[in-house]
Amino acid sequence: MKKNLICIECPKGCALDVDIENCRVVKVTGNQCPKGETYAISEIEDPRRILTATILTKGFPLKLLPVRTDRPIPKARISDAMKAIRKIRAISRVKTGDIIAKDLLGLGANLIATREL
Ligand code: SF4
Repeated sequence: MKKNLICIECPKGCALDVDIENCRVVKVTGNQCPKGETYAISEIEDPRRILTATILTKGFPLKLLPVRTDRPIPKARISDAMKAIRKIRAISRVKTGDIIAKDLLGLGANLIATREL
């Protein structure tokens, strides 16, 4: 199977042609540097995303606190992560970057505040 991807690792945006066999990348062409191959392998074999969301606050005028994971998490676990995030309440003051939930679902990423509360 072949798949076309655009590398997003730098502004050049190389068009990648990716050969895939049994869900594994066997060849990448079109990349102008090694990062393109690494990106294609990650995107096909273990796609990950930074998750952004909001959590409810309690006792503050601001009702929703924006949050995000501090590193990408597996795309396949985003739904589970959202379920966990919906149960979290911000009940005390936080600064931008403060950890709201450490090692969310054991995925190796912390949930952090992206604004002050
Ligand atoms: S393959 Fe390299 S040069 Fe091309 S977009 Fe990706 S990082 Fe940039």
